[in-house]
Amino acid sequence: MTDIEKNLREIRQRIEKAAEERAIDLIAVSKFKTIDDVRDALRAGQRVFGENRVQEARKKFVELRNEYPDLTLHLIGPLQTNKADEAVQVFDVIQTIDRPSLAEAVAKAIQKTGKTPRLYIEVNIGDEPQKAGVVEKELDSFIDFARSVCGLVISGLMCIPPQSENPEPYFHRMKTLADHYKMTHLSMGMSGDFEMALRCGATEVRVGTGIFGVRN
Ligand SMILES: *Cc1c(COP(=O)(O)O)cnc(C)c1O
Repeated sequence: MTDIEKNLREIRQRIEKAAEERAIDLIAVSKFKTIDDVRDALRAGQRVFGENRVQEARKKFVELRNEYPDLTLHLIGPLQTNKADEAVQVFDVIQTIDRPSLAEAVAKAIQKTGKTPRLYIEVNIGDEPQKAGVVEKELDSFIDFARSVCGLVISGLMCIPPQSENPEPYFHRMKTLADHYKMTHLSMGMSGDFEMALRCGATEVRVGTGIFGVRN
């Protein structure tokens, strides 16, 4: 058994325990990792992956998609408007819609390409000035803009809570927001805090180092 296979088993067991019967998507975050690492995970039955960059994801996964047609790829990193066309073609899920210009660009890209990836909004739940995401006080108008003006189907929220703080209150707040806006997907929790996120209502967790080991 490879380390990746072993790690995956352990993470899946921990998810099962923390999620108590709910069906959870484990997103294996493979950024900076090699195709061989991804292959190890695929051989261990993993089918859902997350990448931060459009180019890197395309390079790694174009070939693998032919071999594994049931593979699902999430964009979890920031997206530039000029890469929207490519992003809707490469990814099944885009988790990081976070500003009006990007919502517009993605809506255009969907019309142009005919691809309809699942879309989430990234929330800057800690209201941190340096961080990507929509702050809570602007969420209402942004969701309305994305849904009504751009015509986008937004079905989820994602967040990265402030580092070096207890994430629990932020996760609880995200769950409240997701319920309020009738979002069926709630993406939160990483290697260090996914069990906490699941106890707070995450429907999917994004685990990188816990599966693939530390990144260079
Ligand atoms: C890298 C990354 C992860 C995975 O983080 P780990 O701590 O390695 O599990 C999750 N979410 C996002 C948005 C990331 O950029």
